[in-house]
Amino acid sequence: MTAPRPDSAAAPAPRATRPNGQWAVDGRTPLNANEVMKAEDNGLNVRERVEQVYAAGGFDSITADDLRGRLRWWGLYTQRKPGIDGGRTATLEPSELEDRYFMLRVRIDGGALTTGQLRTIGEASTEFARGSADVTDRQNIQLHWIRIEDVPEIWRRLEAVGLSTTETAGDVSRVILGSPVAGIAADEIIDPSWAIGELARRFIGDPELANLPRKYKTAITGHPSQDVLHEINDVAFVGVVHPELGPGFDLWVGGGLSVAPRLGERLGAFVSEERVPEVWLAVTQLFRDYGYRRLRNKARMKFLLADWGPAWLRTVLEDEFLGYPLPDGPAAPQPTRSGDHVGVHEQKDGRFYIGAAPYVGRVSGPSLSAVADLADSVGSHRVRLTPYQKLLVLDVPAERVQDVVTGLRANGLEAEPSPFRRATIACTGIEYCKFAIVETKATAIGAIDELESRLGDLPALTPISLHLNGCPNSCARIQTADIGLKGQLVMDDDGKQVPGYQVHLGGGLASPDRAEAGLGRTVRGLKVTADGAATYVERIVRRYVADRQVTA
Ligand code: SF4
Repeated sequence: MTAPRPDSAAAPAPRATRPNGQWAVDGRTPLNANEVMKAEDNGLNVRERVEQVYAAGGFDSITADDLRGRLRWWGLYTQRKPGIDGGRTATLEPSELEDRYFMLRVRIDGGALTTGQLRTIGEASTEFARGSADVTDRQNIQLHWIRIEDVPEIWRRLEAVGLSTTETAGDVSRVILGSPVAGIAADEIIDPSWAIGELARRFIGDPELANLPRKYKTAITGHPSQDVLHEINDVAFVGVVHPELGPGFDLWVGGGLSVAPRLGERLGAFVSEERVPEVWLAVTQLFRDYGYRRLRNKARMKFLLADWGPAWLRTVLEDEFLGYPLPDGPAAPQPTRSGDHVGVHEQKDGRFYIGAAPYVGRVSGPSLSAVADLADSVGSHRVRLTPYQKLLVLDVPAERVQDVVTGLRANGLEAEPSPFRRATIACTGIEYCKFAIVETKATAIGAIDELESRLGDLPALTPISLHLNGCPNSCARIQTADIGLKGQLVMDDDGKQVPGYQVHLGGGLASPDRAEAGLGRTVRGLKVTADGAATYVERIVRRYVADRQVTA
């Protein structure tokens, strides 16, 4: 493999004099402790130790490298010890912060589940996770309070119904986001189901792709609402119609948020459906071999794209990894409808899908099992999760739609939510997350209730997105919300340090309201306390409505 060619017109900036840990340029000598850990043993190999040693030996038998490193390759993170306040997050050692229980992330590529699979997750939650379950904003379901002793049995049950926890965390290809209405929407450009299935089948769990520089996120949609957040994934395929070649995908790379947010960029290349797996593999290999590995906070694909630019990245992709040029292709037009899929919608076969909102993704084992039963009772056997922490029941006959809407409501899922409940998402926060500085889920739920009662006097509102993070890591993607709240400690009116948020305003992804994505900006010095969050949002919403009335 060759280094980037500096003589090309599209060549990237000159290489740094110091090695960046790029395998294809600098060799494979590990340059930090994480790279050492990955080089010493493939993360996927930890499974055998869980089954043969740790499940019998218990929490104390787990080595430090496996506990805080390789177990993530199978979706296991230690969760935060209850009662440790956010002010101590940065000062304590991991061993002081972590509980003896795990969060376990279940992989749901494309968010697609059968009712049997949903019931299995619900039962695992009820039996092994104290009933806990969260629908995440990456179409996964996370369980908490998992004991290492129970993990092999949970794997056995999940795998018996075709689910897994493989590579749901760690420096690997995470869950593949897919359009929640793949294959059923009447206005779909191209059904991405085959491509999603191929990627999952061929590449997830492949040891050759299990040591990437950092996490690697994929998104695929063929729906005109662009419902998979393609701008903030490492690699994304967005449905388009090529004037000569027909329906296919527009290739994006290099998006990601966290503390250094960057929107992905188009490479200007068209990818036909059958080529998605090989193009995905080529982009992934390029990232594996050229991604920066010296500093973890510079290791995502977005940093390589920033240095190389899309033209050079495409050249290297085609010349070194694909071996052929991709045709140029068009960009997708602006979405004409919301991609959260909430509400009742007709499918192309005349049946209906119903999108419902839990509160900020929080569900429970019993409620998941109940939704599976409800769907089965009307002859539906499919559900989907969305990147907006929502759940869809598919294939509902017209005459049973109201039964499903009512049944979902009885289980905490609302198909006709208020704009606040619909557009608010929150990350895990201090309840379970070791990195958190503040609480998020309960604060968000409290804010939704407050806003519903305080703003009931306003005319019908378009949903205004409110996203809450418990720390700067941006799991709830605050930079892409109308109002983004980043957890940190702030001063209250009495000069006391209390949990609160730095405010970001004006972010959003491509939608019917905006032609293209833009990152929200911090408003200088604007911070709110957690207790004052609802009042602050109320003020912003009232001002927004008043401005709209003036300009109308
Ligand atoms: Fe944890 Fe921070 Fe991510 Fe929230 S944003 S889940 S607090 S790491």
